[in-house]
Amino acid sequence: MTSVNDQVSASVAPNMVFQNFIGGRDCPASDGMALDVFSPVDGTLFARIASGTSQDIDEAVKAARMAFEGAWGKLTATERGRLLMKLATAVEAHADELALLESRDNGKPLRQSRADAIALARYFEFYGSAADKLHGDVIPYLNTHFIGVERVPHGVTGHIVPWNYPMQIFGRSVGAALAAGNATVVKPAEDASLTILRVSALAREVGFPDGALNVVTGLGRTAGAALAGHPGIDFLSFTGSPETGTAVQVAAAQNHVGVTLELGGKSAQVVFDDADLERALPTLVNAIIQNGGQTCSAGSRLLIQRGIFQDVVDAVSKRFRALRAGHPEHEPDLGPMINQAQQRRVLNYLERGRNEGLAIVGEGVVALDAPPGGYYVAPTFLAPVPHESILTQEEVFGPVLVATPFDDEADAIQLANGTQYGLAAGVWSRDAMRSTRVARSMRAGQVFVNCYGAGGGIELPFGGFGRSGHGREKGFEGLIEFTTTKTLVIAHG
Ligand code: NAD
Repeated sequence: MTSVNDQVSASVAPNMVFQNFIGGRDCPASDGMALDVFSPVDGTLFARIASGTSQDIDEAVKAARMAFEGAWGKLTATERGRLLMKLATAVEAHADELALLESRDNGKPLRQSRADAIALARYFEFYGSAADKLHGDVIPYLNTHFIGVERVPHGVTGHIVPWNYPMQIFGRSVGAALAAGNATVVKPAEDASLTILRVSALAREVGFPDGALNVVTGLGRTAGAALAGHPGIDFLSFTGSPETGTAVQVAAAQNHVGVTLELGGKSAQVVFDDADLERALPTLVNAIIQNGGQTCSAGSRLLIQRGIFQDVVDAVSKRFRALRAGHPEHEPDLGPMINQAQQRRVLNYLERGRNEGLAIVGEGVVALDAPPGGYYVAPTFLAPVPHESILTQEEVFGPVLVATPFDDEADAIQLANGTQYGLAAGVWSRDAMRSTRVARSMRAGQVFVNCYGAGGGIELPFGGFGRSGHGREKGFEGLIEFTTTKTLVIAHG
């Protein structure tokens, strides 16, 4: 029997081009061009993907429209749900393969990639089982009329996915859109397309009608922009940077369609002087180290009450010094950054922090097993860092944690809410009244008390305020986003 390792090694090679998936078929880019994909693990050429064109996007949108008006659109909600449940089972059965493929393509530690694959299966299960529970309404109105409000899909939805959690973000957005009855066109990130293509092949195997799910790989400024601006798209879901989110929203506005924007974050964890530190410390560190800090909801700021500031900083520093960035298949604390540009971006932020005179109080290591060409960065903890610092205000998207002291509850709330972002927040205190008060004052889409990022969060609405975006994905709320309403007014007397 071939091992998963042999299987993945045989399926990916520098001379192999992974094609677009349009109308149930693997298709090269319309101009035959392909993009090189470099492995973040060692910086070598690892695979090639089709460099999707606007013509490819056009073909994919047409295929989706045909499916929506044809075989896919004719299925009942129960039948759609069953297909998603079958896909969930197939993803779970291929979790080891998907995990290894993701770790090689994206550089995530293997355990994180596996967790992503299991979360993807759970998204399909959650949305598959919800598909036929999406009810409409009846409105009491004139006695002579019956008013029904039907929940209907938008039609053809476009999904632009980033590289940091490809499987999870694909699952939450495409899973919900399909469950609601939309036909979909997906543009994965150029740095991490392979697992999404593999899952699309699984969708074909379990019986999804051709065109219900289409994937066009390639560059954001070509394939991504063509999808965002295509007049045949009825709704867009974008996850990525605030700058690209603006371009996508402008494109959506030109076509008068809605868009959910899931953007960045600079999330604070507030540690009061009565916090259970034994419980808090591992979570405070993990919230920034998970996925190398390349997580939109990373807990990238610590706000610590002044009386315990030095003690907490010392304890976090000690943990940082034990952290190891290394080869993703050797169980490191974190893998490499996704690409060289991201590695440089993080190092550049650290340089700017040094220029501001900030002190590094805890630094992990790049392990000896990390291949020299890979894009590794040692995890770094800086304290104290003023609230106005660039490292406190801007999203680094790397393993960089900053700590700032605060005096009282009001001060903590003001600092926590004092960036342009509003994605997530954490509160650590044994005082239930205080932690509830503070949690309710946070301008963030998710607030955690005495925990952070607990569980996979598949069932929990997620999204931001301000520069973190708008609209909600995940949970039942995410399913509703992929529908609109149609009101039927029927005179009967
Ligand atoms: P990015 O904006 O560069 O790319 C995201 C996607 O958009 C990619 O598929 C890319 O190809 C595409 N794209 C790029 N230019 C485009 C254009 N002009 N038109 C249409 N599409 C285009 O972001 P990234 O670097 O891949 O991801 C990092 C950012 O994403 C961070 O800011 C992070 O916080 C954010 N993010 C947010 C969430 C969330 O749920 N809120 C989740 C993950 C990542």
